[in-house]
Amino acid sequence: MKKRVLITGAAGFLGSHLCERFLSDGYEVLGMDNLITGDLRNVEHLFSSGDFTFYHHDVSNFVHVPGKLDYILHFASPASPIDYLKIPIQTLKVGSLGTHNLLGLAKAKGARILVASTSEVYGDPDIHPQKETYWGNVNPIGPRGVYDEAKRFQEAITMAYHRFHGLETRIVRIFNTYGPRMRLNDGRVLPAFIGQALRGEDFTVFGDGSQTRSFCYVDDLIEGIYRLLFSDHCEPVNIGNPDEISIEAFAKEIIELTGAQTKITYKSLPHDDPKKRRPDISVAKAVLDWEPKVPRYEGLKMTLEYFKTLSEEDLYKKDHKHFDNFIRR
Ligand code: UDP
Repeated sequence: MKKRVLITGAAGFLGSHLCERFLSDGYEVLGMDNLITGDLRNVEHLFSSGDFTFYHHDVSNFVHVPGKLDYILHFASPASPIDYLKIPIQTLKVGSLGTHNLLGLAKAKGARILVASTSEVYGDPDIHPQKETYWGNVNPIGPRGVYDEAKRFQEAITMAYHRFHGLETRIVRIFNTYGPRMRLNDGRVLPAFIGQALRGEDFTVFGDGSQTRSFCYVDDLIEGIYRLLFSDHCEPVNIGNPDEISIEAFAKEIIELTGAQTKITYKSLPHDDPKKRRPDISVAKAVLDWEPKVPRYEGLKMTLEYFKTLSEEDLYKKDHKHFDNFIRR
């Protein structure tokens, strides 16, 4: 009998790649998504597989699935700063109530659960690069706090279920990730720049662009998560690419890659925007024998090819526009 895995956030960027990975490795996959930020088109190609079932459900409400479950991967959550400004309560609920429901389900089914945490638990870090042992510097009442604190609560309740109920749990702290199936208009920096390049608009760099991020290609991230699930490590593990770059240099890299005839315009910095971010991946290397393999330039080329296949309608859809005023200082 095939092993059964429940993946929440299945129609999202990472969730859809995880569904693909588990299906290709012979699992029966149950994908769940409320489709608020996810898109069914990301999993459309999986419906023809007899091993894929899709549940249109919000995991912040009681979750039930029939039959046995071997693994649960909880990836449902808005994941872009603009999304969590737009839907702050849902962001808090899915990280807290949603996680609680899925931990309860894992306990009832005797399943191992892996939860998607984030580098945002480190907030605007004053330790660089960020090690798992760092407790973070988060503003709990700032606009990003809804995401950061939900994910911190998620880690706390996951460890509590592990310690109190002996549940098999795993926690991945995901750093900035990019690749095919990111939502072009989700407001994150890479789809923002590529969208601007494809539309022939100026690039919007927030602040002076000296803030840094470290971008990991999605295939590398999925491999790291896969290894973590099957490891014995129940403490949080950073998965990300330590190749750090300033946002201004990143903009220039994408201008060069796309050949866009555009210039950079500087806008004010969003509240609590972390000044620097880079994962220390020594735990992932030691415990999972994992490190990223795809160089940024290669990953960016593959991502650009994906965005070029999108329709004009997708290219010009800007559902976050009216939130712009909220996020600037
Ligand atoms: N950013 C930018 N221009 C944009 C979108 C984002 O300069 O159009 C900056 C943003 O201020 C941040 C970085 O790019 O410093 C990464 O932002 P993103 O929203 O991708 O995610 P974050 O890492 O902040 O969660």
